[in-house]
Amino acid sequence: MGQNVTVTGMVLKWMPAGDYDRRITLLTTERGKITAFARGARRQNSQLLAAASPFSFGEFELFEGRSSYTVAKASIQNYFRELTADYEATYYGFYFLEFADYCCQENNDEREMLKLLYQSLKALGSPSFDNRLVRVIFELRSMAVNGTGPGVFACARCGSRENPALFSVRHAGVLCAACGKESPAAGTYRLEESALYTMQYILSMPVEKLYTFAVSDSVLSVLMQILKEYLAVYLGHSFQSLKILSDTGDFTG
Ligand SMILES: [Zn+2]
Repeated sequence: MGQNVTVTGMVLKWMPAGDYDRRITLLTTERGKITAFARGARRQNSQLLAAASPFSFGEFELFEGRSSYTVAKASIQNYFRELTADYEATYYGFYFLEFADYCCQENNDEREMLKLLYQSLKALGSPSFDNRLVRVIFELRSMAVNGTGPGVFACARCGSRENPALFSVRHAGVLCAACGKESPAAGTYRLEESALYTMQYILSMPVEKLYTFAVSDSVLSVLMQILKEYLAVYLGHSFQSLKILSDTGDFTG
């Protein structure tokens, strides 16, 4: 027997289903990542048309059938219109949604990821943030949320907290000056103090406090390089939305 459940969540993506329906993927507080059918959502006058679109965040009342959910009602609190009004920010946003879709699972506790996604989309929609920095923060913190973040508080080889000097992709974290000397140069990056501090901040602050700072161009540039290589090794997935970003200009590093 079916029953109604109310979940708080965000639409990550939709696919057409049947003639007029949408099949949507939702990232929810209560059930992790789920898919649900939005009946009639492709009809022009459907109340679900906007609700069943990417970025829509709010409360979804779902009918839980034997093998699938159906959206009965949606009360959207944020469509992220300030984000979708900006072409570049929109594609960064699509990348974040695709990233979350790739990393999250059904019936898993994805509350931290949902919170991170929400705050990151808000930062993308704000003109005061460099989108590339938002991307660095989102990527680094997401990896940590998924249990594959780097160690940035002690040397990844010897555990020393003295003289952190390099970041090593292979060691998934920082190396002290002594260990750095014995490591191959490939995949290691010299870290100025502010770059190290930025990584420590991103990995330790509550999500609500992540988007409160700016960095210099040199720090941003080294963090972008590190993340690019780190994700290639520890995530190893090529995202469709990133291809669009790099095809349409020099948004990506
Ligand atoms: Zn060491």
